[in-house]
Amino acid sequence: MKTKRLLRSLLPVYVFCLGALLLSALGSSRAVTAITQNAPLPQRRCVIIDAGHGGEDGGATSCTGVLESQINLEIALRLNDLLGLLGYDTRMVRTTDTSVYTQGATIAAKKASDLKERVKLVNSEPNALLISIHQNTFPDSRYSGAQVFFARDTESRALAKALQAALVEYLNPGSQRQPKRATGIYLMEHIDRPGALIECGFLSNPEEEARLRDPDYQRALCCVIAATVSNFLDQT
Ligand SMILES: [Zn+2]
Repeated sequence: MKTKRLLRSLLPVYVFCLGALLLSALGSSRAVTAITQNAPLPQRRCVIIDAGHGGEDGGATSCTGVLESQINLEIALRLNDLLGLLGYDTRMVRTTDTSVYTQGATIAAKKASDLKERVKLVNSEPNALLISIHQNTFPDSRYSGAQVFFARDTESRALAKALQAALVEYLNPGSQRQPKRATGIYLMEHIDRPGALIECGFLSNPEEEARLRDPDYQRALCCVIAATVSNFLDQT
């Protein structure tokens, strides 16, 4: 019942996704007109989807023993499918349960190399926009809700604000969470492109942990993120 209610409340977002798809088709016809007029085409944005952690670095462990890296990957893959469906260019940092380090003998050195490789990938795309997927955890199990962090520039702040508002409206009604600057998060401190890191929820809260593992909830989450990113890219 809960899932049905959630999906019903997300109806406007699904309608938005369909609208965005239609607009992207209209965008293609506008592009054809631009070519015939020899006008320069706008450079396409590439959405880089980062499934946090992976391989030896499992990230946090949920209250039922599931690794954060696994949930991150499931959500990232769904988001990639949805943004692809909406017509956006995407790149994934990882598509399997692996780390992306290139050097290092110790776990700490591998972790440092892994983060540097993620930064390098984002900064190698001139028109990149990063969405990094993570899950939160806290010793006190009562805390819940998605928390969005933004990188250094003003575009990141605007993106995070839109994402936080949409996640509160559709998935965490009543939440007072506000987007925060990603201080002390290596990836977000070192990218030269706009980006937001989404802690989708708390793996330490039993109810939210169950939702975050649920494919229907993951789909709803990705629908909200994809619709917000699409809306944001259309306005920038
Ligand atoms: Zn994490």
